Amino acid sequence: MRVLKFGGSSLATAERFKQVAQIIKDKSQSSSVAVVVSAPQGVTNHLVAMAENISDENKLSTDLQLFKTAIDTIIDDLSASLDGFNRQHAEQALANCEHQLSRYMQGATMLSFCPEHIRARIISTGERLSVAILESAFAALGSEVSILEPEKFLFTSDESLNAVADLVLSKEKFAECYSERKQIAIMPGFFGVNSQGEVTTLGRNGSDYSAAVLAVCAEAECCEIWTDVDGVFNADPRLIKDAKLLDYLSYQEAMELSYFGASVLHPKTIGPIAQYHIPCLIKNTGNPQAPGTLIGNENDQQKRVKAISNLNDLTMVNVSGPGMKGMVGMASRVFATMSRENISLVLISQSSSEYCISFCIYSSDALRAKHSLAEEFELELLNGLLEPISLTGDLSIVSLVGDGMHHQRGVAAKFFSSLAQARVNVVAIAQDSSERSISVVIEQRKCTDALKVSHQNFFSFKPTIDVFMIGCGVVGSELIAQIARQQPSLKAQNIDLKVYGLANSQGMVFDENGIDLDNWQEGMGKDALPVTVENIKAFVRDNHLINPVLVDSTSNEELAMSYVGFLEEGFHVVTPNKKSNTDSWQYYQELREAAQKTNRRFLYETTVGAGLPVIDTLQNLIKAGDQLLKFEGVLSGSLSYIFGKLEEGMPLSQATAIAKENGFTEPDPRDDLSGMDVARKLLIMARESGMQLELSDIEIESVLPESFDAGGDVSRFMANLEKLDDEFSLKVQAAKNEGKVLRYIGNINEGKCKVTIEAVDSKHPLYNIKDGENALAIHSRYYQPLPFVLRGYGAGAAVTAAGVFGDLLRTLAWEQEH
Ligand code: ADP
Ligand code: ASP
Ligand code: MG
Repeated sequence: MRVLKFGGSSLATAERFKQVAQIIKDKSQSSSVAVVVSAPQGVTNHLVAMAENISDENKLSTDLQLFKTAIDTIIDDLSASLDGFNRQHAEQALANCEHQLSRYMQGATMLSFCPEHIRARIISTGERLSVAILESAFAALGSEVSILEPEKFLFTSDESLNAVADLVLSKEKFAECYSERKQIAIMPGFFGVNSQGEVTTLGRNGSDYSAAVLAVCAEAECCEIWTDVDGVFNADPRLIKDAKLLDYLSYQEAMELSYFGASVLHPKTIGPIAQYHIPCLIKNTGNPQAPGTLIGNENDQQKRVKAISNLNDLTMVNVSGPGMKGMVGMASRVFATMSRENISLVLISQSSSEYCISFCIYSSDALRAKHSLAEEFELELLNGLLEPISLTGDLSIVSLVGDGMHHQRGVAAKFFSSLAQARVNVVAIAQDSSERSISVVIEQRKCTDALKVSHQNFFSFKPTIDVFMIGCGVVGSELIAQIARQQPSLKAQNIDLKVYGLANSQGMVFDENGIDLDNWQEGMGKDALPVTVENIKAFVRDNHLINPVLVDSTSNEELAMSYVGFLEEGFHVVTPNKKSNTDSWQYYQELREAAQKTNRRFLYETTVGAGLPVIDTLQNLIKAGDQLLKFEGVLSGSLSYIFGKLEEGMPLSQATAIAKENGFTEPDPRDDLSGMDVARKLLIMARESGMQLELSDIEIESVLPESFDAGGDVSRFMANLEKLDDEFSLKVQAAKNEGKVLRYIGNINEGKCKVTIEAVDSKHPLYNIKDGENALAIHSRYYQPLPFVLRGYGAGAAVTAAGVFGDLLRTLAWEQEH
C-alpha cells in the first residue's frame, strides 16, 4: 500500500480537489492507498488568526467569515461542476465545524485565554473539512472510502502545538483499529492526540509529518508527498528562477534541506521514514506525469553540492561577558534554559568561545529566550559578570547541502567568495560534523542576493551583467544597438547581459525583465523617474540584481561626481565620460579607493583613444614596473579629422561642420577646438602613469585664438567659425611651403603636459595621422629607444561603443568555475 499526502496548495480550489480525487482513484487501481490531506491553502492561517484574536470580537468575526467563505466557495464550485458531489455531507461537516469553533471561542472569550489544546483543536479544523469535501467528491466518482481518525491511533508527546509522534504506540494502535480498510482511506493531517486524549498539532506544515507517521503505521511501501512543484529543487524555485529539479536525495540530504528551510518538506517528516526505510516521493498534483524526486536510503556518491536552502525570521542570541571564562557549566545552563522554555535552537555558532555563546532561534521565541536567560543569570548580570543578553533580529540562514560535499575541495571558499560577491556580511558560520551541510547566518534582507550568487556559482554558471545606462546620445544609442545584436551570442556563451534601466534628459525608465532593446525609443519618457542613485539603488535592491553596472555615456559633470556613491552601493562604473578622472587629484584618488574597498570595477578605457586599448596597456606596463618617460600623440579623433581636411585645402569651418555631422566631435565642437578634450586625455594618461597633476597644470594652445568670439550656442559658434578660415588657410599654406603639415599634438615630457599645434615634416611619426586616426607613442623605460606605438581610429560611435562594451564584459571578473 502507498500513503499519498496532498498539501494545502493541492487543495486550494474545487478544480484541485477534482484533480486530487482523480489521482487517488487512478493510484488505487494498482494498490490500496491511505490519503493524508491538509487544510485548503490559506484556511489554517485564518484559524490561527482566530485563536490569536479571541479578545477582539471584530477581528474574530472577520476571520471566521474568511474561513467560512473559503470553504463555501469550494463546496459551491464542486456542487456546480461535479455531478453526484455529496453537497449535503460537506455542508453538514462545515456546519458542525462552525458550531464547534463558536463553542471554543465562547469558552476562550470567557476565560480571556485560549488554552493550547483548544488552540490545537481550532487550528486543525481545516483538515477535517478537507476530508469531508474529498469524501463528498468520492461519492461522485463512485468510490467508497474509509476515514482514518488520528484521535484513535496517532499518539504524540504533550506539546500541544509542536508535538512529536510516538511511533511504536501509534503503530500498535493503528493495527488494532484499522486492520480492515477500504481500497481508499482518508485521514486529516496535522494533528494527533496526547496520552490524555487532548488534540495536539504537529507544527505548522505538519501534514507531511502525519503522512510519514501513517506510512510507518500502515507499513507503506512508499510515502508520496503531492504538492505544487515537480519535486525538490536545488534552491527554492520561488526565489531562484533557474533552480534545477533533483531526481534523487538521500534521507540525510533531505533532512538537512528541510531543516534549513526547504519548505517543500516538513523537517520532522524524514525521521520516521528513514528509520523504517520507506522511500519517499515528491510529486506535483498539477503535473502527475512528472517523475518527481525520490528520497531514499542510498548516499549520493557524487562529489558535489546538491542544493542551497534558506531559513528566515531568525534571531541570534548572544550571551557573553568577562565572567564567563572559567565559569563552569555556563553552556549547559544556557541550553538547559532554552530547553526548559521549549525553545528550539536552530544553529549554534562555532564561534562560541569561553567568553561568548551565540545561537540562533526563531524570532517568535526571541523575547521569551531573553527573559528566561535574564532570569537564569540574574546574579551574574547584577554583578557585571555577564553583559546584558543581546538579540540580533532579522536574520536568515543560508545552507549548502550535499552528501558528497566533504570529498570536494574548496566548497567553503567558493561559498564565502560568493557571499562576498553578493556583498553579504556573515554573522556566524556552522558546519555539521559529517560535512553534509555548511550554514551561514546573514541579514535577512540580503538572503535572496546570497542565494542568487551562490546558486549562480555552484550550479548555473550563468553570470549576469545588469546594466543601467545613462545617456542615449551618439555613443549610447550605438552601444544599445551593439548590445541588442550581441545578446543572442552572449546568451549562447551563458552570459546574461540585460539593460534594466535607460536614461536620457527626460529621466530614467526601468524594466524588471530587461528593456526591449529593439524598441527602446518607444518606451523613453513614459513613467520616467529622476536619475538618482536612490532610484537606481531601489530598483537593484527590489529585483535582487547582483552585478549592477552603471554606464555613463554622457559628458555630464554632476553624474561623474556621483560615481563614488554608485561604487559604494555595489555598482561597477563603466564610462567614456572624462570628467571624473580629470576633476581634482583628490577625487581621482577617492574613486580608486572606493572601487578597491567595494571590490567593484571602475572602467574608462574609452576616455583616451576611444576603442584603442590605451588605458589597459598603460596600467599593465606600470604594474609591471615600467615608467613613462615621454609621450607624444594625436589624441583627438575630431582634430585628426579636421587637420587632415585642412591639409587638403578645406576651410576650418567646413571641416568642423563635416566632422560634427559624422559624429567625430563632441556634441559641442568647442570642447575639441579649445583643446580641452585633448588636455583631459593627456591628464588621464599622466595620472595613470603616476603623475600627480591637475587640469590647470596642462599648458593648452587652443585652436581658437584668444581674440576670437567663441560665445553663444553651438549654431552661432559654427557660423562665427568662418571668420577663422582665412587665418588657418594661411597657417596651413606656410607649413606646406616648408614640406610640413599641421598636427594637434599632446605631449608629456619631464613631468610636464602640453597641447600644441605643431608643423611636422614627413619624417615625423605623426605626419600621416589624419582622417580621425589617433596615434600614441609611449617612450618608457622598457620601450626605448623605439617607443610603443598604438594607432587606429580614435573617435566615432562604433569604435567607442565597442570599447565601452568591452569594459562591460570586464565586470565579469569574478571567476566562474565549471
Ligand atoms: P504544500 O501546500 O503542498 O504543503 P508547501 O507550500 O508547504 O506545499 O511546499 C511547497 C513549496 O515549497 C513550493 O511551492 C516551493 O515554493 C517551496 N520550496 C522551498 N524550497 C524548495 C525546494 N528546494 N524545492 C522545491 N520547493 C521548495
Ligand atoms: N494546514 C497546516 C498548516 O497550514 C498543516 C499543513 O499544511 O501541513 O500548517
Ligand atoms: Mg507543506
